[in-house]
Amino acid sequence: ARAGNPGGRIQMSILKSRFEDVALSDKSVTQRVFEGIDPDMTILIDGPSGRSYSGAQFIRAVKSLAGGLSAHDMGAGTCVGLMMPNLPEYCIAFHGIAWAGGTITTINPTYTAPEVHHQLNDAGAQVLVTIPAFLDTARAAIEGTGVDRIVVVGDAPEGTLALSDLMGPPLEHQAPVDVAEHVVVLPYSSGTTGMPKGVMLTHRNLVVNIDQTLLPADLNPGEMTTAFLPFFHIYGLQVLMNIYLTAGGGLVTLPRFDLEQYLDCVIRYRTPRLWIVPPVALALAKHPVVANYDLSCVEQVFCAAAPLGRDVAEGLGERINARVNQGYGMTELSPVSHVSPHGEGKPGASGVAISNTECRIIDPETGTDLPLGEDGELWVRGPQVMKGYLNNEAATRATIVEGGWLRTGDIAHFDEDGFLYITDRLKELIKYKGFQVAPAEVEAALLTHPAIADAAVIGAPDEAAGEVPLAFVVAAAGQAAPSLAEVQAYLDTRLAHYKQVRQMQVIEQIPKSASGKILRRLLRDAQGAQA
Ligand code: AMP
Repeated sequence: ARAGNPGGRIQMSILKSRFEDVALSDKSVTQRVFEGIDPDMTILIDGPSGRSYSGAQFIRAVKSLAGGLSAHDMGAGTCVGLMMPNLPEYCIAFHGIAWAGGTITTINPTYTAPEVHHQLNDAGAQVLVTIPAFLDTARAAIEGTGVDRIVVVGDAPEGTLALSDLMGPPLEHQAPVDVAEHVVVLPYSSGTTGMPKGVMLTHRNLVVNIDQTLLPADLNPGEMTTAFLPFFHIYGLQVLMNIYLTAGGGLVTLPRFDLEQYLDCVIRYRTPRLWIVPPVALALAKHPVVANYDLSCVEQVFCAAAPLGRDVAEGLGERINARVNQGYGMTELSPVSHVSPHGEGKPGASGVAISNTECRIIDPETGTDLPLGEDGELWVRGPQVMKGYLNNEAATRATIVEGGWLRTGDIAHFDEDGFLYITDRLKELIKYKGFQVAPAEVEAALLTHPAIADAAVIGAPDEAAGEVPLAFVVAAAGQAAPSLAEVQAYLDTRLAHYKQVRQMQVIEQIPKSASGKILRRLLRDAQGAQA
């Protein structure tokens, strides 16, 4: 039933979900996940090696790790940085820490040491969990932070602890936490402006978002999926790891994306749904190697995290004979707010509002609600809205406004069936292959270069990546501006690969408002006119 809408047609200003509300639960996220697990089923498989865990083994490992962490004073109240690729042990580490009453800050393992250092400090982490391949980065990153212990999944050299050695007598019950207040996960997002910030998500945020999303997703009992979307990003963490486990399904984990390895796993384990991002949709639609695979087991492709071109979606759907649907979300929304319900979807649409979720479309100029069908900023309200940004009251107040509405910074409209269409981005965020690039962070790094006096970074359209960072730089007085290659070499040790500047223009002056804000729109328009 469409609440408050007797004629069947949806009217703005506040658009409510068509789904029944789900009840708010007092369970921790791990309690909720455990409820769905089939102890006898193989629920976690490492894609490359086939190494696996049954539901019972997973639960035992989580409780043992929680017991060991608590015994070593790394349990309740501890913030742990989790810096590793997708492995079954990622799920064990995450839930072990959560079960022990800790907080996990998820870190991209491809970060450079300075980036990891910054996040550990900002989050107030005391422990860092990683794998041997990232130990050098981990060691360099913890210098001068509050982290005094590194836990290694795999062989632990001297001075570090092995995760396997931490397994202690099990902690049978969830360590007491206030589920509505306790921050269980702290992923980083730049939101609508500025530098990446810690997004405080509580147990309740995660649990309600699992329940909200399960309803329209309608997974089959025992369903598996192949998970290459990184668990350090909220999309992989929630939509794949937590939702599949809660639904009584399982995951084939891939530590990095490799098209052939991915398709091998999809076929070997017959995983009916693909959870992808637009660049992977493009690869699946166009790459010749896809023709070597019989993908008849695939029923649905689900794409989110960045805009998906209609022709790519259509081409992919036809090529593999599956429905291609989109969802929409953001880290600050735990992350889901809109999903195409199972078996339903419209070309170009990012789904309908999930349970307990309300939306408005606001004119960015006037701040007033716009009529149905018109483009404006999407505002979302619901129990999945984050608690706030860590130690950043000003950013929190600018993002969650009166009445509990979250300003998404995305430009969108709804059609009369309540389907959402994202059409543009108001915020400065750049998405490179679905990964967040905060212009402010790249600008700050550029400004440390001695020959650069000023810099501004925007996204330039790119077929394969969606967008790439484009830098405008002003040469320092009396100096020649560095070349693109020089800038890239300079940034290489400072920023992760996906934040790298791919295009550059030297200009006389960065256009700024009277208050000193970069006028990105002017740069973008000038760029568009040139293209
Ligand atoms: P993140 O916090 O990294 O998940 O990024 C959230 C942002 O990704 C949103 O605010 C959008 O700008 C973008 N995004 C997510 N899903 C979609 C979608 N289906 N279409 C277009 N943009 C999307």
